[in-house]
Amino acid sequence: MKKAFYVLPLVCATVFIVSCNEKKLIEVVEVPLPSATEQKTVMGSPDNVKADEGSFQLEKLPYAYDALAPSISATTMELHYSKHYLNYTNNLNSSIKGTPLENLTIEEVLAKLDPNDAGLRNNAGGYYNHSLFWKCMGAKAGGEPKNTLASAMITDFGSYGNFMSLFKDEATKHFGSGWVWLIVDKTGKLQVTTTTNQDNPLMRNAIVPGTPILALDLWEHAYYMDYQYRRKNYVDNFFNIINWNKIEENYTAVAIK
Ligand code: MN
Repeated sequence: MKKAFYVLPLVCATVFIVSCNEKKLIEVVEVPLPSATEQKTVMGSPDNVKADEGSFQLEKLPYAYDALAPSISATTMELHYSKHYLNYTNNLNSSIKGTPLENLTIEEVLAKLDPNDAGLRNNAGGYYNHSLFWKCMGAKAGGEPKNTLASAMITDFGSYGNFMSLFKDEATKHFGSGWVWLIVDKTGKLQVTTTTNQDNPLMRNAIVPGTPILALDLWEHAYYMDYQYRRKNYVDNFFNIINWNKIEENYTAVAIK
């Protein structure tokens, strides 16, 4: 009886301490939840982004904004697609409205446009370049090209490794805003080239003309939030998300023309 008199308060105290500790544990687990919910409401869906009425509509993003992370963050993808790309598309539509360019394909617009028309040149280029760029990437992509593109790379560059070094080198040393491309020239040969601003190899002022099959955006808006001044790291990591099946498809489409 005497023993129980001492033991009972001890048991009660132990239960109280354990239950307090459990409460503490629960509190710690619950902390990250509000910020996760907040993140969800901030990030929109690419499918909800629509261009104003006009000849050209946005190319559908074939993956979620966060699918390319950590090579390219969801925040960069969302801004790039829903703001920059949308602006180029809307501006292109308004500048060709009521002109003979209105009913042409984007490739025809690029071939015909007057390079002195800076507005049209920037927005038509911006529309085409980004539309191709989105399709060049994918989640769980990377690796190396296979089949006909792999053989063509050996013929035209000596090896896939040579192509990769050349592409990375051109991308890293390109000064200012622009794009780096893998193109098929008019003789059917693969070439790596760069253009400034939103120019591309389909424009009649192109120094190295051809049909682009792979594109990488070198504007700071494409990587600055993720990499700051480290463009080389962005270019290196791009090789982890290149969708080579799609590039092969682009190559075959040009090669059989
Ligand atoms: Mn861009």
